[in-house]
Amino acid sequence: MPDKMTDLIEELALANRILAHEGVLDGFGHVSVRHPTDPGRYLLSRSRSPLLIEPDDILEYTLDSEPVRPPKALLYAERVIHGCIYQARSDVRAVCHHHAPAVMPFCIAGKPIVPVFHLGAAGGLDMPFWDQQDEFGDTNLLVVKQEEGHSLARALGQHPAVLLNRHGATVVGGSLKELVSRSIFMCQNADYQLRAMALGTPDPLRPGEVELAGVLGMLPNVVSRTWEYWSMRLEAAGGMPPRRSSAKAARRPVPKSARVTPRERRKGRRR
Ligand SMILES: [Zn+2]
Repeated sequence: MPDKMTDLIEELALANRILAHEGVLDGFGHVSVRHPTDPGRYLLSRSRSPLLIEPDDILEYTLDSEPVRPPKALLYAERVIHGCIYQARSDVRAVCHHHAPAVMPFCIAGKPIVPVFHLGAAGGLDMPFWDQQDEFGDTNLLVVKQEEGHSLARALGQHPAVLLNRHGATVVGGSLKELVSRSIFMCQNADYQLRAMALGTPDPLRPGEVELAGVLGMLPNVVSRTWEYWSMRLEAAGGMPPRRSSAKAARRPVPKSARVTPRERRKGRRR
């Protein structure tokens, strides 16, 4: 089980960096994944910009978005988004909240993002639009209270994504790879839709096309292929996360010749 957990933590760090490198996340935004064996918990980084996240930054939370172990670091203010969605949707295994430039014009204008090309079907039909003002009046627009998180989860319903008025978007997936693929293609779709609007009024895919193309786009071999591609792009840019430090120790025992004896340690030997 520790290996499964370590793999998932390393995958989550990589997902953060892929989404940052592909322009979905910037200095803000976050990605979580449900715990591999305890559906009542999820994994999310400490408060840190996604492009910098390492496996050792990942913490475990209850679905009330409280850290399981007392934190030594600052936490994301908007983590209730994740906990409330995991409570409401047993099928969801990964969540991303972002303020991507591609979706912001739609969040600001209050216009729907509709699937305009085959891979854009990942965002689904009739994407809901949540306005915090409706239930909570004037706020700083961050989703920080439990009741705000539950309200957002209700607006999401059974959809794959929800837009937040003048704020951003929240996307869900059945796995981390599915979530990363959906988040990136939803942004590409928004970008294409906005550009096509300069040429006229683009027709969305038909409902049957959205369903068929949506299923195709989320097949395991398809999301693995794009995951590999985006990982390669991140690696080429020198942005791959380090391995988890405890895993390093477990997987690569220090050779005898490299071990420091207590006498050497007392002498302050440096390596
Ligand atoms: Zn936000």
